[in-house]
Amino acid sequence: MKAYDVMTKEELKEELEEVRRLHRKYCGMGLKLNMARGKPSSEQLDLAMGLLNAVDENTVMEMENGLDARNYGGLEGLDETKQLIASFVDGDPESVLVYGNSSLNMMFDTVSRAYTKGICGHTPWGRVDGVKFLCPAPGYDRHFAITEYFGIDMITVPMSEDGPDMDMVEEYVNNDPLVKGIWCVPKFTNPQGYVYSDETVHRFAHLNPAAEDFRIFWDNAYCVHYLYDEIKIPDLIEEAKKAGHPDMVFEFVSTSKVSFAGGGIAGMLTSRANIDDALKSMSIQTIGHDKINQLRHVFFFENGKLVPEHMKKHAAILRPKFEAVLFALERDLEGLGVGTWTRPKGGYFITYETLSGCAARTVELAKEAGVVMTNAGAPYPYGKDPNDTTIRIAPSYPKLAEIVQAADVFTVCVKLAALEKLCKDAGMDI
Ligand code: PLP
Repeated sequence: MKAYDVMTKEELKEELEEVRRLHRKYCGMGLKLNMARGKPSSEQLDLAMGLLNAVDENTVMEMENGLDARNYGGLEGLDETKQLIASFVDGDPESVLVYGNSSLNMMFDTVSRAYTKGICGHTPWGRVDGVKFLCPAPGYDRHFAITEYFGIDMITVPMSEDGPDMDMVEEYVNNDPLVKGIWCVPKFTNPQGYVYSDETVHRFAHLNPAAEDFRIFWDNAYCVHYLYDEIKIPDLIEEAKKAGHPDMVFEFVSTSKVSFAGGGIAGMLTSRANIDDALKSMSIQTIGHDKINQLRHVFFFENGKLVPEHMKKHAAILRPKFEAVLFALERDLEGLGVGTWTRPKGGYFITYETLSGCAARTVELAKEAGVVMTNAGAPYPYGKDPNDTTIRIAPSYPKLAEIVQAADVFTVCVKLAALEKLCKDAGMDI
């Protein structure tokens, strides 16, 4: 098929009529498909059902350090859970603070503490005018929702395949004391599926922040979520320590997409000083998290030993779904000049970049045809995509047959939105 941008007006008109006909056909089929949220499928959740048998009435609940998992106490988490959380990122169990069921909750609380009480004795962000966060975008909408909630100014940092634009990050962080944080998903970014390069991680470790209470929010949500082979990135906590910034990093990990989404365990890796600082308010907030669930995870994953094998089972379910979407994109859109897409090696998302000004229209057309996509704009601070180009595709939740059908609909919508734009740009009456 000829690229759309070299078609004559007659050819464009003909193609528009054909693609409109296909779109109308899908609209009449009463489809109800959803590629909007990155949830695990029930087949994936089935993989962790053994968790429910990992603890029973015969389980020894007294831990090696004498703590009884059934009782109050152990606010930092069981030693065994720290080991499990650390194993996800080859980190040091001593640097783990275990939380409840959600890393997002932990991120919210971490920003909230900084905002109301300040980090390690520094002025609370809420008492400083014009506090800013850097937001590599496209990024995770719920990160941006947290900083928006606290009224923190968000500065969009462009992304490349190697991670955020580090020249811009260094310029802001090293010179502006109002820049207090940055949101990062270093491995299999949400939504592009990119992996930060070694150089990017190295440059993060060597930042020289103008604000002493600047922190990198390193959300390693997809650290073990490979679709193919393992991909390792340098350990930012270690690198930052070596570079003389032991307190600069909060690294978040959770089992939400390993065991049960919202029914797992979460933790943060950071310095002892940061953990002690967090504990001051955590000890007011709660007497302790659910240590029985911690134990279930410790036993089920044998302190972390079984995680790689378990994640291979997830990959076997997810891989065909990702490949089905990529197959349809290639088959229908390659060479048309109507956009580009990412080809992730892990994580939960694929990103499609439309022609300028076509993302919202594509999502609208998909909705008309019964396919719900993430709102266009969602992966940007304040929900505003400056060029209206980014669409997040989430293939994990629907069944494979549904994904195949949804991808077919999606490519038609991409073409239709592009054709509408090109015809209008050519001054044609459509
Ligand atoms: N971080 C990222 C980048 C995510 O994509 C998600 C869920 O989609 C979360 C965090 C949520 O994790 P949790 O369930 O541990 O709160």
